[in-house]
Amino acid sequence: MAIRTRAPGASATARARGSAASAATARSGGSSAAKRARGGTRLRAAQQPTRLPPGIASVLSVLSSSAVVVDSNDRVLRASAAARAFGLVKGDRLMVSELAALARQVRRDGEIREGEFEVPVPRFGGRTTSFAVRVAPLGGTVGGGGLVLVLAEDQTESRRVDEVKRDFVANTSHELKTPVGALALLAETIEDAADDAEAVRRFAAKMRQEAQRLTNLVQDLITLSRIQAVEPVPDPHPVPLDLVVAEAVDRCRMKANARGIALTWVRSPGLSVLGDEDLLITALRNLLENAVAYSPERTRVVITTKRGSDGHGELSVADQGIGIPERDLERIFERFYRVDPARSRATGGTGLGLAIVKHVMAAHNGRVTVRSAEGAGSTFTLFVPLRSEQVGTGAALTREPPETAELNSTGNAQEAPK
Ligand code: ADP
Repeated sequence: MAIRTRAPGASATARARGSAASAATARSGGSSAAKRARGGTRLRAAQQPTRLPPGIASVLSVLSSSAVVVDSNDRVLRASAAARAFGLVKGDRLMVSELAALARQVRRDGEIREGEFEVPVPRFGGRTTSFAVRVAPLGGTVGGGGLVLVLAEDQTESRRVDEVKRDFVANTSHELKTPVGALALLAETIEDAADDAEAVRRFAAKMRQEAQRLTNLVQDLITLSRIQAVEPVPDPHPVPLDLVVAEAVDRCRMKANARGIALTWVRSPGLSVLGDEDLLITALRNLLENAVAYSPERTRVVITTKRGSDGHGELSVADQGIGIPERDLERIFERFYRVDPARSRATGGTGLGLAIVKHVMAAHNGRVTVRSAEGAGSTFTLFVPLRSEQVGTGAALTREPPETAELNSTGNAQEAPK
């Protein structure tokens, strides 16, 4: 267990906090006269059980932090459920000795103190949890003599988010370095081969490829940050699924044609979801591009749109491709995670496509699932809330049979995946 306390006077920040705290305390009786008075109250408190000042209990009950009030005898008068669950309090005792010492100091001089400490939480398998604490006197309030309030905020999640951000910046820098390094090297090679027109052409083509990789990466980074900024979609409007499919297919038809991959659409007509048209098209396009990139030539990709059973519209993309090993299924939605980095690079992937899909679904209050078998293909399904009028069993819509349409003509005669 470690505690780092910002005691008054320890640093400029701490001093500033200390004086602000003193000012706050002064307003609530922090003058020396008030302190003497509090001393008197403390004596009285030792003789008779202290009660919580009126109103404090209801204020504490709405705080999200773990909150504890200790009296002048170091007894816990009130503790929130979280404080007990984290093991900070047992019975009427504060279980973290540093915290109890901090409470005593605060009671002595009336200064608000802040600190950070780590404590193993028995309930969570002894894992260490870090807390930011703020300890303040509840002095000056009638009947509140010697009472100290301890607020402890669980920092685990914010630390995890910081770590994810740091990793993301490190990974992004690394991903950007690769094509930039390749471009520098190719430029040098071209200089050296200036007299060989054929070599210059070859290396210039490679430079174009790397520049395209860089463009894709930057574009995906912009898309990702744009989605994260709008989570959840601020102004969802009705988006016909037919339009999403038509647009997404338009944008990857050429890639499919180039590899002889047939695109088939099994369509339940007339479905509309609520959301952002561009983002939904981007999500479906990413799934389609992956289906094409990770499938052998002359196979089939089937897009299905249908009404789900729980008020969602479903959009699925099934391929007959290489599939995804089970151990990787959980991780493929992470930024920059690739099952086979060399293959992803060869197909021009940025490693961000599925992270974008996941965030688009989160922004729509929807979700994405994947089923896959190595060597047999993958099916990704997007679930997006339907427009409210379409939720339920609207007779006209449910009775319409699905239609099947071929979206490109590759002459491909393979069976659609089951
Ligand atoms: P990438 O740009 O590498 O394709 P994605 O985030 O789109 O990045 O996908 C992450 C990884 O998931 C890919 O590198 C690939 O290994 C795997 N993957 C995604 N879609 C498919 C698919 N349809 N078939 C097989 N593997 C896939």
